Amino acid sequence: MSNIIRLEHVRKEYDDGFVALDDVNISIESGKFYSLVGPSGSGKTTILRIIAGFSEVSAGKVFFDNQDITHLDAAKRQINTVFQNYALFPHMNVFENVAFGLKIKKKEKSEIIRSVKAALHMVQLDDFVNREISELSGGQQQRVAIARALVNKPQVLLLDESLSALDKRLRKDMQFELREIQKKLGITFIFVTHDQEEALAMSDEIFVLNQGTIQQSGTPVDIYDEPVNDFVARFIGDSNILNGRMIEDYLVEFNNRRFECADAGIKPGEKVEVVLRPEDLDIVEVADGKLSATVESQLFLGDHFEIKATDTDNNEWLIHSTNASKIGKEIGLYFDPEDIHVMRFGESEAEF
Ligand code: ATP
Repeated sequence: MSNIIRLEHVRKEYDDGFVALDDVNISIESGKFYSLVGPSGSGKTTILRIIAGFSEVSAGKVFFDNQDITHLDAAKRQINTVFQNYALFPHMNVFENVAFGLKIKKKEKSEIIRSVKAALHMVQLDDFVNREISELSGGQQQRVAIARALVNKPQVLLLDESLSALDKRLRKDMQFELREIQKKLGITFIFVTHDQEEALAMSDEIFVLNQGTIQQSGTPVDIYDEPVNDFVARFIGDSNILNGRMIEDYLVEFNNRRFECADAGIKPGEKVEVVLRPEDLDIVEVADGKLSATVESQLFLGDHFEIKATDTDNNEWLIHSTNASKIGKEIGLYFDPEDIHVMRFGESEAEF
């Protein structure tokens, strides 16, 4: 598949000397749903503004369909943005908001009506044409903002934290709807969020950012199962991370014990970090466990319990379990060799 947007060695240094992006390389294929995820201040919005043309790069290039658009006006790009606050015009109704861009472009009245109705149909707001913006829910306002972006028939839609104003339930519904809209239209979506769960749920591909650099890109499953460094392992999902050493292929040491593991492609003797996801740990009888630990605390989270336990080497473990445990209880922890993910030590510093 061809790439529709490409950032090559992009650097952004603000006037005060702050480097917000450093050597960012991104390739976006047509018709997919991408997320840019990272902590506050990591540079997500800066990347979006550079793609949209609202912000100039300090170095590097931006391509659209293999054309260099680094210095092309925002208005001339086939890219539209939905902002966090939706930036709707409060004194105009739904129709006028969606029609605004077409009126500016001096399109025929009949064409404007046809296009606005088609855009509102796509976001299932056919019956809201004459509603005032103040009479809409947060989710409906968000859909108006999307319709207003879609009416220009962009090839790429940029969405900046556009679900963050919604309550949890509505946010879940909108995640689903956005995904459906994207699939139906086949437009490329680039979605910015600091919420890793949202990124995992919605995306074909994710870019994980920290301090202005891309840490890892890949499918949600790749990033969750094979984090390349401890920043990604900690930021995407919950993790137990332990220091250890590779003994031989398929054998790793941590907690002063040796465990079978999947092939990590790391040389024997090298220092490593071992990642074990909380849901990959099973609570068993002490005699059946690979490690034993004492339960310290327990939280019920609706569909599972989050249990914290301390092992005999004083390491704290986070465990997700469908069964309740008892504080103070001695438990065994069991995990399969393929659930041990081994990373080279110190590939990055976790700072967020
Ligand atoms: P958030 O999730 O909080 O929106 P973000 O990942 O989108 O964060 P950006 O808005 O891209 O982060 O900002 C990246 C960094 O650049 C931040 O540290 C921010 O303070 C800095 N920054 C943004 N705009 C400017 C500016 N005009 N001048 C100086 N620094 C800026």
